[in-house]
Amino acid sequence: MNLETFKFDIDPDGVALATFDVPGRSMNTLTARAVADLAAIAEEVASNAAIKGLVITSGKTSGFCAGADLGELGGGSGASSGGGGEGNPEHKLKAAFERSFALNKILRGLETCKKPVAAAINGLALGGGLEVVLACHYRIAANDNPKLQLGLPEAKVGLMPGGGGTQRLPRLMGAQAAAPFLLQGESMTAEQAKSNGVIHDLAPAAELVDRARVWVKANPNAKAPWDMPGYRIPGGGPNDAKGAPVFTFGSAMLAKQTWGNYPAQKHILSAVYEGLIVPMDAALRIESRYFVKTLMTPEAKGMIRSLFLSMQELGKGASRPGSYPKYDVKKAVVIGAGLMGAGIAYVQAKAGIETILIDTTQEAADKGKEYSRRIVDKDVSRGKTTKEKGEALLALITPTTDYEQARGADIVVEAVFENPGIKAEVTRRIEAVLGETAVMGTNTSTLPITGLAEASVRPDNFIGIHFFSPVERMGLVEIIKGKATSEETLAKTMDYVLKIRKTPVAVNDVRGFYTSRVFGTYPEEGMTMLAEGIAPAIVENVGRMAGMPMGPLEVSDSVGLDTIVKIGRESAKAAGKSYEQNPVGDVMAWIVEAQGRVGRKAGKGFYDYNEQGKPSRIYPDIGKKVEVKISECPPALKIELTKRLLFRQCVEVARCFEEGVITDARDADIASILAWGFAPYSGGVCSYMDMKIGIPTFVEECDRLAEAYGERFRPNALLRDMAAKGETFYSRFPSREREEKAA
Ligand code: NAD
Repeated sequence: MNLETFKFDIDPDGVALATFDVPGRSMNTLTARAVADLAAIAEEVASNAAIKGLVITSGKTSGFCAGADLGELGGGSGASSGGGGEGNPEHKLKAAFERSFALNKILRGLETCKKPVAAAINGLALGGGLEVVLACHYRIAANDNPKLQLGLPEAKVGLMPGGGGTQRLPRLMGAQAAAPFLLQGESMTAEQAKSNGVIHDLAPAAELVDRARVWVKANPNAKAPWDMPGYRIPGGGPNDAKGAPVFTFGSAMLAKQTWGNYPAQKHILSAVYEGLIVPMDAALRIESRYFVKTLMTPEAKGMIRSLFLSMQELGKGASRPGSYPKYDVKKAVVIGAGLMGAGIAYVQAKAGIETILIDTTQEAADKGKEYSRRIVDKDVSRGKTTKEKGEALLALITPTTDYEQARGADIVVEAVFENPGIKAEVTRRIEAVLGETAVMGTNTSTLPITGLAEASVRPDNFIGIHFFSPVERMGLVEIIKGKATSEETLAKTMDYVLKIRKTPVAVNDVRGFYTSRVFGTYPEEGMTMLAEGIAPAIVENVGRMAGMPMGPLEVSDSVGLDTIVKIGRESAKAAGKSYEQNPVGDVMAWIVEAQGRVGRKAGKGFYDYNEQGKPSRIYPDIGKKVEVKISECPPALKIELTKRLLFRQCVEVARCFEEGVITDARDADIASILAWGFAPYSGGVCSYMDMKIGIPTFVEECDRLAEAYGERFRPNALLRDMAAKGETFYSRFPSREREEKAA
């Protein structure tokens, strides 16, 4: 056998050992080559009479296998090219089925080869990795590896398990128990896997292979449970009185949670339902059919590209410019220990960075540090960290009013009040103690960076570092380059953002930057609908059904209705108009000023909030200000309102590209999902326009919406040009380093 990814030996007792060990990689993935090697091994085991049984294990200390190679899968599905495809669709579909059924065929061959097959699982086995071991007759896993996780995470990136996972897992643990692993991509520890019947035994990693060998020798006639007479599905199958409700309720729950936006979850449930009522061979064909169907959806293509490939690239600093040496931030200053500053101090200390937290009074600075203490205490009480580690983290934060303490710092993040005068004064004071090469960052959410840099003596070191609230939970940092900001400063800032384990996306300096500007159109369109007389409950439900994390009115409450009024007035003033003269401005001024309802922070806004800060009901008196004219939502209206809410954001994205605010489709997609939760099933704003809708249709529809609702929907010249040339955002605005690689 000419194997590349496995080592293969046969011991004197005839027990073969296949050791999965992809050369040059720290972790095994199920590449096309690994699948081919697995096929050769299965064939050899079945046909070589000298082989009495097989043990499969991994040669990597990091684990057994992290799953399919999504890079290969994404490329094959057109995920990285933006979709499309040529050739006879029927042939294409048939070929795709054969490709995806190949793994099922190999694993089923192994399972029915009439020789015992055991898996010795030394570390994590995810996705295809878990599916390989599920096809073995016996599974023993390490009980001394805390990183060992078993799971099927495919659904998280819009895919479904395609190597028998949807069939074997529910046959082992029951459909209901398997649901969170299949539908939400949850994973289990070795102990959990043992207690729910997925693993037969546990042992120290060093003993696994020997124990597996012993089992193989003792069980020459091993069969999978479902290939034995009298096998019954734990908890009952879809046609049993006990098992059926799992599917009825499961289907209803799924519809409630996903609003039908996630084809993978729907297909998984169908594959489990249909597969459990037929024998395993037919069940695996059913799974492969749903797998192909899922893989070909724009949702899978968009989600694999953004949530897996792009996240991985950006997490490795793919968009970091130039060849500047890595900037290792050891000491950082945060000025302003309020909501944002306190969170930034925490994430810095968590990354091991010495942090000076400055405010105007010692009391305010101490209060900022208290925020970290609260998080640490909670983590200690939940066993997420130890007391010692927590104390070490807190010891890294020095709350103070003394700028002298900042000497020697590598970077500053200013997070004082959103006031240019105060920001300028703070910049002057801190720069007086900073070294020549330190980065001066501002966390402003609205003020142009180039203007703020005027207060700086080293504007080339000055940059926007825009965090999102709550800082410890939000994964994105929007980096804003001012006119004078140097490429080196950008590279250093990216290194800092990566060190605190956030995803950096760089944009150019225009009011509202990228995220705030585009995100703001969503609540605004919702409030416009409200002002038109559409019942608030319809506005909210359509927002959530469109895949947004909150309805537009609830989002407005979270931002703060007073803040929205303030920004609205400033923008109207800049445009030479009156805010109150537009219907939204009128409603907003009424709710904030006449009703005194400023949003979630005050416990009352468009919603009333309970003591836990959760919305309890929509403010009933809204009807006194705006007469409800539409209180029913037939499907056609739902489609129209969905388009208004999502297309409005997308048109603004196109304008940001045209104005050069953002220059890379990958960044625009990732930022849209991480910063404001834009319909994650789409893969982000660009993928939504490129693949879910298609640019020509998008342009046509936006023209129609502009006629019906206003010029805010009018497509810009860029969109028209792209439609005429058959371009997508990914083809017109590719990533810089992908371009360089291609050249
Ligand atoms: P905040 O009011 O909670 O905190 C501001 C802190 O700055 C206060 O503790 C205040 O005492 C301190 N401060 C004021 N003047 C100071 C000075 N001269 N020297 C030192 N400290 C001073 O505000 P926040 O919400 O944390 O916002 C801070 C900045 O972050 C603003 O620029 C804001 O636009 C931006 N921002 C806020 C959010 C958000 O969601 N709140 C998100 C992104 C960015």
